[in-house]
Amino acid sequence: MAGKDYYKILGVDKSASKEEIKKAYKKLAKQYHPDLNKEDGAAEKFKELNEAASVLGDDEKRKQYDQFGSDAFKYGTGAGPGAGGFGAGGFDFSGFDFSGFGFDRFDFDSIFDTFFSGGGFGGRSSRGGGFRRARHSRGRDLAYELAITLEEAANGVKKKIKVTKNDICEECDGKGGFGEVKCPDCKGTGAIRHTQRTPFGIFQSTSTCRTCNGTGEVFKDACGECSGAGTVRKTKTIEVDVPAGIMDQARLRVNGEGEAGYRGSEPGDLYLIIHVEPSDIFERIGDDLVMEQKISFTQAILGAKVKVPTIDGEAVLKIPPGTSPGAVLRMSGKGMKRLHSFGRGDQLVKITIEMPKHLNRHQEKLLREFEESLE
Ligand SMILES: [Zn+2]
Ligand SMILES: [Zn+2]
Repeated sequence: MAGKDYYKILGVDKSASKEEIKKAYKKLAKQYHPDLNKEDGAAEKFKELNEAASVLGDDEKRKQYDQFGSDAFKYGTGAGPGAGGFGAGGFDFSGFDFSGFGFDRFDFDSIFDTFFSGGGFGGRSSRGGGFRRARHSRGRDLAYELAITLEEAANGVKKKIKVTKNDICEECDGKGGFGEVKCPDCKGTGAIRHTQRTPFGIFQSTSTCRTCNGTGEVFKDACGECSGAGTVRKTKTIEVDVPAGIMDQARLRVNGEGEAGYRGSEPGDLYLIIHVEPSDIFERIGDDLVMEQKISFTQAILGAKVKVPTIDGEAVLKIPPGTSPGAVLRMSGKGMKRLHSFGRGDQLVKITIEMPKHLNRHQEKLLREFEESLE
């Protein structure tokens, strides 16, 4: 493993628990605290202990350390943006200054807990991901409820919808102003460095520059149209593509059609929440469509070809002779398109049989003859 062995410095095993590390650190820190120990090298040793504890006390840092060694942390090189693996979240142990701190005035536990909570003095927002610029920069996501018919869901549909949102200001191209100059507060870095004195020395951390919101630039003239935000309220017509086979309550993301970001940064997304209106004729079960069809009792007995509605219009259904009431006939491939796939579901036709309430003499005679023929 490259660099320092933090486990050895604290005198603990590699498998030591957080509690064990904490205990070992407390004992050694008291022993080597420069206010109590005036021996040569005590301050150096104390510094090392803090470094080791700040890494091993934090689960994430410990994991990184176990994998990459202490070089991942670049102590002593400054903790500003780009100073190493942990950027603004790291500690700078380079300049220790214990003057003005009495040992009995500080509480080991509370200092220690800042190591162990992972919060540190600089915050953890940028850990592992470089320095994050401009909080609140990405535009908000939006939701839009879109109702479509079952027929539209079956075949897919293009819809034009109107969305009122914060959109890019065309006057300034979303930048918020004109005549960019380097931010005087952060010298164009987008970050402000803070120095905090503690009994363990000087800790440095960085935060986003508030003057320029982390962009590193300010404008000579703010845009009058958007008051510098880069966005204006607008109603925009957006064409959306609803794919065939979409389910009720499905969410569709339209990339980049949410609200515009702060001063030209990334826009949010628009989420369509699809409501498929129920149909009077069809009940949808997955990709299948279920419907009821009434036929006459003679059609049921003799068989017939009847016209039935389908999602694509009328079609002919063959009723086999001797069809019972409640029989379900399958019309293959006449259901919903399968979403993002090939083929279609089926249409299932549930047969109900209409019984004649009144028969005329002739009809009655024929049926009696039919009945007699059965004997
Ligand atoms: Zn700035
Ligand atoms: Zn503008």
